[in-house]
Amino acid sequence: MNTRIRASVQNMTPYAPGEQPRLPNIVKLNTNENPYPPSPAVGQALATLDPAELRLYPDPGCTALRSVLATLHRCDASQILVANGSDEALRLSADAFVENNGSIGYFDPSYSLYPVLSAMRGVPSRPVDIWPDMTWHMPPDYSASLFYLTNPNAPTGMLFNKAKVRAFCEHFPGVVLIDEAYVDFAREDCLDLALSLPNVLVCRTLSKSYSLAGLRLGYLVGSADLVGALHKLKDSYNIDRIAQAAATAALQDQPWMHANVRRIQTTRTRLTQELRGLGWQVCESESNFLWTLPSGKTSADVFEALRRRAIIVRYWPGPRIGSYIRITIGTDEQIDLLLAALREEA
Ligand code: PMP
Repeated sequence: MNTRIRASVQNMTPYAPGEQPRLPNIVKLNTNENPYPPSPAVGQALATLDPAELRLYPDPGCTALRSVLATLHRCDASQILVANGSDEALRLSADAFVENNGSIGYFDPSYSLYPVLSAMRGVPSRPVDIWPDMTWHMPPDYSASLFYLTNPNAPTGMLFNKAKVRAFCEHFPGVVLIDEAYVDFAREDCLDLALSLPNVLVCRTLSKSYSLAGLRLGYLVGSADLVGALHKLKDSYNIDRIAQAAATAALQDQPWMHANVRRIQTTRTRLTQELRGLGWQVCESESNFLWTLPSGKTSADVFEALRRRAIIVRYWPGPRIGSYIRITIGTDEQIDLLLAALREEA
């Protein structure tokens, strides 16, 4: 016990990111990255960036980037915060909207970072169980200062009903942060709620649909009031010059992003059908991954068998969700390799 370290930090369990193996020729289907490259406009933006410019600090207000986002979402730039990955936006929200005697809510299962954020903030978590039907029944006396509502949800990939989300936001007294990391793969989004309700923020990322997980770029949209509070807390230079240039270029090429999304949706439909044909249970996904219950074998056995063939998927050992496997939608070639491996192992 090192008494120089805060007790709450000593006691907390950190977030466990999915593994990033450095092996050659792996089929990497474990962290919901996009299998297709980002827009060629990103390469052009990086090629025209003069390294001498890196002497200078970046624009702390990310003016060009926020103005592209404001045009895209038909709002004012004051309603947008850009963050170093949406993880940073989620963390800043925990700092801005939760008093020391407050609490943080989220669904269970959902993104496993949220309980870590409440531990970092030193406040209690108030998870709402959505097991086993994966929809929610809010306890009548429920309250929290901030609620992370993931839509489509992770790791289930399922989209919550929008009317239900709206009704929840309208009645919830605290801030609702709708985490739309996967929304470009879904049939509808909740952006209009963030632009019309004073307590709602929508969080997006360029890590998935824009194929830029390595860049670290996320953003939040909402009332200028809430967004202004987050601007007070962020690092002045949270987005470097390279990321600002590359992200601006990627956002300006919407057709590229949508074409990749359509390819992934087509592969998602195919993989869903093929896995069901093998007797697996597959949740109806509106994201770039499938949440599945293998047939005839445990998730651990399937995970290990695939791993031996350099196909990496993800599962969370433990009770309840431990029997499921999450598979990121890869290219059609990668999915063919996965299906061939599963048939041979069956
Ligand atoms: N929200 C959800 C629901 C996610 O699954 C992820 C990716 N792990 C994130 C946010 C974080 O994304 P980013 O790469 O923008 O930090």
